[in-house]
Amino acid sequence: MQEKIIDDKILEHMTLENVFKIINDNIFPLLNEKEKDFCRELQEFCIELHPKIDKNQDVYVLFPELGKRGYMQRINLWRDFMPYGMKSEILLATHLSCLDSQLELARLASGILCGNPTFQHGETDEILKVQDELMEGSKIGCIGITEPNRGSDAVNMTSTCRKSDDGSHVIYNAEKVFTTNGPKADYFATYAVYNQANPRGTMVQAMVSRDFKGQLITNRLKIPYVDRVHIAHTIMNEVEIPVNYILGDNGKGYTNLFDGLVPERLGIMGSGLGICWATLAYAIIYTNLRQQFGQNIINFQGVGFSLGDLLARTSSATALAFQAATSYDDNILFAEHPSKEAEKWIAGVSSQGKYLVSKLSADLTYTVQQQMGGISVTDNTDVQELSSTSYIEEVIGGARNIQLLIIQNALRRYSKLILS
Ligand SMILES: Cc1cc2nc3c(=O)[nH]c(=O)nc-3n(C[C@H](O)[C@H](O)[C@H](O)COP(=O)(O)OP(=O)(O)OC[C@H]3O[C@@H](n4cnc5c(N)ncnc54)[C@H](O)[C@@H]3O)c2cc1C
Repeated sequence: MQEKIIDDKILEHMTLENVFKIINDNIFPLLNEKEKDFCRELQEFCIELHPKIDKNQDVYVLFPELGKRGYMQRINLWRDFMPYGMKSEILLATHLSCLDSQLELARLASGILCGNPTFQHGETDEILKVQDELMEGSKIGCIGITEPNRGSDAVNMTSTCRKSDDGSHVIYNAEKVFTTNGPKADYFATYAVYNQANPRGTMVQAMVSRDFKGQLITNRLKIPYVDRVHIAHTIMNEVEIPVNYILGDNGKGYTNLFDGLVPERLGIMGSGLGICWATLAYAIIYTNLRQQFGQNIINFQGVGFSLGDLLARTSSATALAFQAATSYDDNILFAEHPSKEAEKWIAGVSSQGKYLVSKLSADLTYTVQQQMGGISVTDNTDVQELSSTSYIEEVIGGARNIQLLIIQNALRRYSKLILS
């Protein structure tokens, strides 16, 4: 804290422990005993780590702490860390956002966006080694989809690749932007196409190591909202990728990209929910203790009603995220025969949920700052950092309009249903 102006009598109650008490009161009724135990384990970890976090340092120094507990991701089983699955991942993301929303953003990029493909498509010893290093938090990962001139229109990418004459390598020439973790990353889950005219049929997904032969440049972009996370302009010139690091060749990269978007978006819902719950809980604590005109400010309807509205919206969004995650676990991840119907529903609802939660977190943090007053824009509470991170979460994983475009496409298909 650069300069403290918050009243000590309030500050002593603005603790993560109290944040979790409020969250538990609201979400425990939606969880089973195993899930509640996992929340308690996460809360113990967060409460212990919170005072040790130095906000003057990048988030990456904390990755090994997450790795030790198997917290780089929880969708997939890694070593014997239990529980796992999408519901566990949502709970992990929610708690880590409360702990440190910027750490959570970087963790999601390394553990899920880069790590998940190693579980879904990684069969070689080389990829399993990458997986271990990412999960331990000893190495940092990122994903390279977006290009300078291909943002929302990610499929029609211009980054190209070719096979070496002896077939032992794929050679990338790629330019990517907004690569979260890029400047610090050891591994880049990156997409390129053999033929720009046929991206769907020729897209490749590869795990690129910074150590590979060729030129790999990562220049940091200045993004003040998340100043402890490094985000890159990434350039690959003639980078030679051994075939054992190819996750999806010759068009398989395209299906992998789209399959990956669903867990990514569900995961971002977890991060967004953490921002909502932490911000709301800090606001509830503060407005119950801060007095103006001789009263706790929560007693003024202008403040209390507004927080009530935000609680109703956050509870609804949480129920949706939990339901979508449970359906993903039951019908896809743990199902012997994954249900096509569920896959379709979840693909749609992951966009609906990502749209809803990331917009809610931005609206909520803004509104809370109006209700808490000046203190919430200083570094005396975590609210400003939560607010800044929420703006970024609306853009990553596909901007707001792209989620709406996907939802609109689904609505347009109803014409067939109506007319049949
Ligand atoms: C901080 C940050 C971190 C990121 N991290 C990563 C990362 O790690 N890896 C990665 O690959 N990418 C990452 N991204 C990129 C992110 O996914 C893109 O920013 C996003 O897909 C939008 O692309 P764009 O910014 O080029 O916007 P554009 O595609 O140029 O879109 C500009 C505007 O037009 C709208 N628009 C575009 N097409 C349509 C349409 N058909 N209908 C309606 N509206 C439309 C968009 O919604 C947007 O508002 C990150 C972005 C940011 C800001």
